[in-house]
Amino acid sequence: MPTPPPPAPGTSRPAAPAHQAVTGPVVRGYERYAAQAAQWTRGYEARGGHVYCGAGCFACCDMPIRVSLAEALITAQAITPEQARRVEDHARAVQANARTAPDEDAYVARHREDVSFCPLLDRETGSCSQYAARPTRCRDTFSAFSAHYCAVGTWESMGRRERAEYRREVARTPGTDGEVHFIAPLEHLSEPIWAAASRAMRSQWGLEVWGDFWTLTTLAADPAFMARVVAGDRRGAAGRARQLGLGHPVTLEME
Ligand code: SF4
Ligand code: SF4
Repeated sequence: MPTPPPPAPGTSRPAAPAHQAVTGPVVRGYERYAAQAAQWTRGYEARGGHVYCGAGCFACCDMPIRVSLAEALITAQAITPEQARRVEDHARAVQANARTAPDEDAYVARHREDVSFCPLLDRETGSCSQYAARPTRCRDTFSAFSAHYCAVGTWESMGRRERAEYRREVARTPGTDGEVHFIAPLEHLSEPIWAAASRAMRSQWGLEVWGDFWTLTTLAADPAFMARVVAGDRRGAAGRARQLGLGHPVTLEME
């Protein structure tokens, strides 16, 4: 999280970070999730389950990520100006993919192969450079198989027999949904964070904004975009996003 600004002259309390009424419930949701996920994981491991995720593991950091604007604000307030520039470059690559991908499968595949890894990933250490401000999806994705199965290209390179074996393995691994190797209960535990974001945006702005992580993190730092959001001006906010070249409907949804 960013260092709070110094107190204004004549006051002893620091100013609250901008949009705290929207970000606060999400931050509290992150804290509750961390405690609940740790407790669930202890029980899972006591029953013989294994969570493969750990420090330096990052094969999943090239996946598209959907967030609320509430989460994007938290990231936007934490990143450095240099990181913000790289996030914006990434957002522009996401926009190009959204404009040209023929369908959702192609969008996801191209994101992983061409748009590639999140610019907040430290490629030398394999760690997230904004761990405390990462969005929900980065917190609730856990794997019951090794990172090899999370990496782009693994599924595509499997033959029919290997895919059948993968499906059998997934089906007999506790904690999965029986279809894929990610740990379903750890994903379900994050649902209150999505709900908190939704309620906070609706009550403060009268609208909800969802979309691509890097696009929304860039828009969250744009005062003109945020002024329209705060005013509940959907059309104005969408127009401002389009003016910035960040308004593709695949990456920006307003409800
Ligand atoms: S989800 Fe997969 S790639 Fe991501 S940290 Fe876990 S094991 Fe590693
Ligand atoms: S925010 Fe961090 S954890 Fe999430 S994709 Fe980027 S580098 Fe990975």
